[in-house]
Amino acid sequence: MGKIIAIANQKGGVGKTTTAMNLAASLAVLEFKTLVIDADPQANTTSGLGHDPKSIEASIYECMVDGVKVEEIIRKTSLENLDLVPSHIDLVGAEVEMINLENREEKMKEVISSLKDLYDFIIIDCSPSLGLITINALTAANSVIIPVQCEYFALEGLGKLLNTIKIIQTRLNPDLEIEGILLTMYDVRLRLSNQVVEEVRFHFKNMVFDTIIPRNVRLSESPSFGLPVISFDADGKGSIAYLNLAGEIAKKNGHQKVTE
Ligand code: ADP
Ligand code: MG
Repeated sequence: MGKIIAIANQKGGVGKTTTAMNLAASLAVLEFKTLVIDADPQANTTSGLGHDPKSIEASIYECMVDGVKVEEIIRKTSLENLDLVPSHIDLVGAEVEMINLENREEKMKEVISSLKDLYDFIIIDCSPSLGLITINALTAANSVIIPVQCEYFALEGLGKLLNTIKIIQTRLNPDLEIEGILLTMYDVRLRLSNQVVEEVRFHFKNMVFDTIIPRNVRLSESPSFGLPVISFDADGKGSIAYLNLAGEIAKKNGHQKVTE
């Protein structure tokens, strides 16, 4: 049975998409069958994995609202074990159209439940909002990764996010766990970066992943190649960090083969 992990933080630019793409690619390289679901209308994961969002006719939205079968819209990527459910701009209208649906928070869960048998990991890249699609993702997920940028105001909005997670745990998804808080864009030379690491570890202790994602130019370049970083800079710091994160998550979830 596969594990569904949402990558969420309503703040933009904290590394959600970079993490979704590169964590999923690293899990795939470690030979886990992995699917990324792009649940952001900006479709950055879709283009980052080599698919032009303009060419996408159906996304997770059409599955949730129009009854399109999710299996029919899965795309392959450059990596053997990595598939993609793409997104496109129409997802923007989804929240409004979904308001009148019954069980509107549980549509994504219904749509992707059949995929749990096909993949070891399903990673959902959320948009920078706590709207209905993100709530759907958190209701469908087994756990959530919260990327936190090592920058000013790192903790801003985190309370609201954790509160939303609590509400979802109470009302919609009692089994939702926090997989971990992930420190991103860490710059060893900056005192601020180190202060953020200390502060986040102080507040959240063992909720924080051991792996820290460094600021790495290759990570920011990779979407323009339509490839995850591991496909063109396998020995670089960004690739190694996301591989370490994948290993940490695999180990935490009882997959021994990676750590032996
Ligand atoms: P989000 O999905 O949370 O909005 P992104 O993953 O798109 O955030 O990241 C925001 C910007 O920062 C992008 O331009 C991305 O390429 C860049 N970025 C993300 N993580 C890193 C990193 N570790 N090192 C360098 N640049 C990064
Ligand atoms: Mg994004």
